[in-house]
Amino acid sequence: MGLDPLGLELESYSVPEVTEELRQQTGPSYRLTVSSSSGKLKIQSPTETSLKEVSERAKSLGDKIALSKADISVLALALDLQNEGKNPVIVSDDYAVQNVAEEAGISYQPLATLGIRQKFSWTFYCPACFRRYAEGEIQVCQVCGTKLKRKPLRKQDARKRHVKD
Ligand SMILES: [Zn+2]
Repeated sequence: MGLDPLGLELESYSVPEVTEELRQQTGPSYRLTVSSSSGKLKIQSPTETSLKEVSERAKSLGDKIALSKADISVLALALDLQNEGKNPVIVSDDYAVQNVAEEAGISYQPLATLGIRQKFSWTFYCPACFRRYAEGEIQVCQVCGTKLKRKPLRKQDARKRHVKD
């Protein structure tokens, strides 16, 4: 979906099935090739045990129908990494994937929350009168003199920019 592993500061993993799914698309496939050849992204197959466990959990949740082979592999690989003592976070906007991850106690994050290459844009606001200010403009509210606070722009904003990018 356009996630660029080169922009992430964490170890990234994917499964061979995802490589297959991306083969037909030039952009994501190219990024995957560059990322994996630069060692930023490890392509790894999950164990049979984890594949079986994910399939079972998905079946009991009724989500199996919505999961592709790649989805199941991603979930199973996350389970393997968790068993190795790592703390994996699945990046997926897929509700069925999130649902199974939740049930299996695996962390997940929708792609939109990562923004573009994990860069956040900030908006500054006055905590007293809620007036908004652009980044870097001023430090205190021009109306009431309260020290401004900052917060990340809303997810939807990040996604809109992402699509244009
Ligand atoms: Zn104010």
